Amino acid sequence: MKEVKAKKFLGQHFLTDENIAKRIVDSLQTKSKVLEIGAGMGVLTKYLIPTTEDFKIVEIDSESVDYLNVNFKQLNSKIIEGDFLKISLNELFNNEHFSLIGNFPYNISNLILFRVFENKFLIDEVVGMFQKEVADRVVAKEGSKTYGILSVLLSAFYNMEYLFTVSNQVFSPPPKVQSAVIRLQRNNVIDLGVKEEYFVRVVKTAFNQRRKMLRQSLKPLQMSLENVEERFLTLRPEQISKDDFILLTKQIYNV
Ligand code: SAH
Repeated sequence: MKEVKAKKFLGQHFLTDENIAKRIVDSLQTKSKVLEIGAGMGVLTKYLIPTTEDFKIVEIDSESVDYLNVNFKQLNSKIIEGDFLKISLNELFNNEHFSLIGNFPYNISNLILFRVFENKFLIDEVVGMFQKEVADRVVAKEGSKTYGILSVLLSAFYNMEYLFTVSNQVFSPPPKVQSAVIRLQRNNVIDLGVKEEYFVRVVKTAFNQRRKMLRQSLKPLQMSLENVEERFLTLRPEQISKDDFILLTKQIYNV
């Protein structure tokens, strides 16, 4: 077996614990069409191949791609050498829905999650390992200090669960921080009842100044707040639930 040296700038921290690898793969419930991001040396891949119907990988590192092609002959045309953030997701499975799995490169965690949000009508489920701090933030509920933009936006379309914590000692090289596995499952929301663009704008604007009350932090929207309930105006964004953010957006944009 060829030695592949982990490249830190690609967020490469290879998982070395087979039980955890199995547990991650077992956490994925819908396995008909599955995309793995960043397969590295295939620690998850080997459990995904026999349990999925239609399986693909997107991996940015050519050395890892070579390694996977040599060691997993059955993959042949299923590896896309490229950047998850740039490839066309529609074409992957001919416009069909799919699940996403991976020990995600930590340097682009937020970008991956925003891309999931943008592709919520294509991505039904996500099981992913993140830096624990990111995982905590994503699943956080209102009232928590870590509750933020991604928690609100994603919870509008996904049910989210914190599954388990993973020690940094089971990676080579070990990252500085702990990791955690979370699962996102698509809820049945198709339409928020308000333009999604407005909802995103309100959430982002409010959290942009997260210490301030909404009366102040929503000013950059340059919208009148006269139809907004008084109770919202003295709150800070972290005190507002996803449903109230939707309501607030409706009140601001009068829909
Ligand atoms: N799944 C493997 C590797 C995890 S490390 C394991 O658990 O051991 C993260 C992997 O993501 C690396 O293989 C890295 O090359 C790959 N990667 C980094 N940025 C990427 C991107 N933008 N698109 C696809 N893969 C990426």
